[in-house]
Amino acid sequence: MAEPHKKRIAVMTSGGDSPGMCGVVRAVVRMAIHLNCDAYCVYEGYEGLVQGGKFIRQMQWHEVRGWLSEGGTLIGTARCKAFFEREGRLVAAKNMILNGIDALIICGGDGSLTGADKFRSEWPSLIEELVQTGQFTQEQVDPFKHLNIVGIVGSIDNDMSGTDATIGAYSALSRICEMVDYIEATAYSHSRAFVIEVMGRHCGWLALMAGVATGADFIFIPERPRGDDWQSEMCDIIRRHRKLGKRKTIVIIAEGALDAQGEKITPEMVKDLLADKNGLALDTRITTLGHVQRGGTAVSYDRMLATLQGVEAVKAVLDATPETPTCFIAINENKIVRKNLMEAVKDTKEVAAAVQAKDFDRAMSLRDHEFLDQYKSYMMTTNVHMDDGEKVPEIQRMKIAFINVGAPAGAMNAAIRAGVAYCISRGHEPIAIHNGFAGFARHHGDKPIGAVRSFDWLEVDSWASKGGSEIGTNRELPADSGMETIANLIEQYRFDALFLIGGFEAFHAVSQLRAARDEYPSLCIPMCILPATISNNVPGTEYSLGSDTCLNELVNYCDKIKQSASATRRRVFVIETQGGKSGYVATLAGLTVGASAVYTPEEGISLDMLAADVKHLKEVFKKDRGQSRAGRLLLVNEKASKVYTAKLIADIIREEANERFESRDSIPGHVQQGGVPSPIDRCRAVRLAIKCIEHLESFGRRAQNKVKHDPYSTVVIGIRGASVVFTPVAELEETDTDWPNRRPITSHWAGLKDIVDVLGGRNPYPKPEHKLTGLKAKDTKRGLR
Ligand code: ADP
Repeated sequence: MAEPHKKRIAVMTSGGDSPGMCGVVRAVVRMAIHLNCDAYCVYEGYEGLVQGGKFIRQMQWHEVRGWLSEGGTLIGTARCKAFFEREGRLVAAKNMILNGIDALIICGGDGSLTGADKFRSEWPSLIEELVQTGQFTQEQVDPFKHLNIVGIVGSIDNDMSGTDATIGAYSALSRICEMVDYIEATAYSHSRAFVIEVMGRHCGWLALMAGVATGADFIFIPERPRGDDWQSEMCDIIRRHRKLGKRKTIVIIAEGALDAQGEKITPEMVKDLLADKNGLALDTRITTLGHVQRGGTAVSYDRMLATLQGVEAVKAVLDATPETPTCFIAINENKIVRKNLMEAVKDTKEVAAAVQAKDFDRAMSLRDHEFLDQYKSYMMTTNVHMDDGEKVPEIQRMKIAFINVGAPAGAMNAAIRAGVAYCISRGHEPIAIHNGFAGFARHHGDKPIGAVRSFDWLEVDSWASKGGSEIGTNRELPADSGMETIANLIEQYRFDALFLIGGFEAFHAVSQLRAARDEYPSLCIPMCILPATISNNVPGTEYSLGSDTCLNELVNYCDKIKQSASATRRRVFVIETQGGKSGYVATLAGLTVGASAVYTPEEGISLDMLAADVKHLKEVFKKDRGQSRAGRLLLVNEKASKVYTAKLIADIIREEANERFESRDSIPGHVQQGGVPSPIDRCRAVRLAIKCIEHLESFGRRAQNKVKHDPYSTVVIGIRGASVVFTPVAELEETDTDWPNRRPITSHWAGLKDIVDVLGGRNPYPKPEHKLTGLKAKDTKRGLR
């Protein structure tokens, strides 16, 4: 009997290109092949579908090797006039059937997905016409009765409703922030003002997030014009900032910025105002960022999104029945989900229509939660000291202590800046505790060392993009510093709440403080932890500040290392990542650089496992005809094994390779803490920090009695699945803390490891026997004092 026809899944990129599109193609091609389908690429977007012939090509596994590190799209994209017409779509349908394409995955912006939606709704009538005009028989078209389409949103504008992020948006944002950071230095030197125009005709996401991430003085976005007199509003704020002592002024304006009457606001108009001799008289320059925003390779987040959404799209295609509504793949907070394509297209169009109709409230309400949160955060942080109407009544004003605990992580400073701004705006008193609990404890006694200080807003305001920890951080736990000392100091300073930004130590610290409450009533104040650690190992969250910065550093590092092998071709790199006893960073980096294998502490390493991987590498190099020169990467977490270190693994591989290929180990070390924090970390820092202070604020002043019995008085803020949540520390201690290994018991990312293995083409390997699985939190309390 003849083999049944394999399903043919095609992928195309369409519309404006965006970083990460190549990652989508790689994931779709490889996942399709993995699931026993044939993979096809349609070159040049809809144009290729209409042209047919050489534009529709079967793809092999090795042909997409290294594509994660490529910017733009290697299968081309085009704007296609013909596809706007039924005539063009008819030819496209014919070409799909001629090539036997069963399903089409389209990665593009809202235009491309609108086209896809139209194609799908017309499909039955197109097929009918092809039969009626004698181009196909009924039997020929029968297998193609239902068009199986899945959308993936690739767009730098982040303008699609129903998803928090589109592929490429964070890469574009990174480029913008990088440029603004550069411009800030020169603006400061000359005490100049800069008006920076960024992309976004109907959507202000890039401008808004760039404003949040860089702490710009003023922004203009299409969805939310300023009041009738935006000119005075802007000049007042900037005058005020200058009066505070700021030497630089940054205004970010989206391409599609409008005033309340719906008239366009141009960078020239803003410049003229700022430079007006009778007004602010600032030496003002305009910078239009233009196409650099689309350029470069994708940031780690976009590579992750591209990969996971590509994989999900293939699964969706295979799950689809004639009854399933056409879907696109979205991300909500941290969760990849399938959503109705038609509804999203409709909502997206409504935003543009609402902006055009000047119904700006509606335009804002159609954007996702994060957009609204960030808008509020932005307004709050830029309007510090401005609006007395925001302040709480005197009696409710709190004294809130800020402390960093653990190793430095990207965006700790951005979180503090946002928290301080919020406190000032609401009339609370933010206080810095310098150098963690160790610093605090040393502040005790006859000669306090000045570790407890007020914040100076002018200084804090410049922390939006600063790496490290400006108030200093320390790993010491309160029990080591002296619980009594800490309790006394909290009483002495009459703190009403404690805001901790840090890693597992911050969690451990609150756990100790909570346990000591019976003995020291002064510890009965609300405490909130904002997880910040590159290891991303704090219970209660799937994301920690700094982890994105770390992944970007690793991606850059690995890209360079991979390329360095191009002269020698046959080289394997074994790279050691940080992460403590959590394999998060190693796994996510593996996903975003396309590693051949990842070794984590959760799984461990065994000799049999290494033997299987070495055997596989030998086979790979035997078949390799030098199609791609880039090296192959193995990632090993620093604590995956006490014996099999990166160096030893590299040595074993070299010995076994018998000079058929080479092997090297490489340790990026503290580079992983990152220099300038990534925009994702900065933006999330702002949003989450404000939520934390709001939470603390909800307890009010001198709330000892209320606090003692309320589990929510000690919490971790986290992103879990599709939501931002507060989880009581007590609950996490009971259910989800692996104390000896300093990580959560459940690793939300565990499933991603299989995807790394599948897409990296790793052969099945024997799993190491496990030492530490099946831990219950209560068995592991020995970490607690
Ligand atoms: P983007 O996908 O980045 O928003 P465009 O809006 O240029 O980019 O759309 C890309 C292509 O998608 C267009 O050139 C056209 O071929 C197709 N397309 C867009 N809108 C429609 C539509 N309403 N009907 C049919 N095809 C469309």
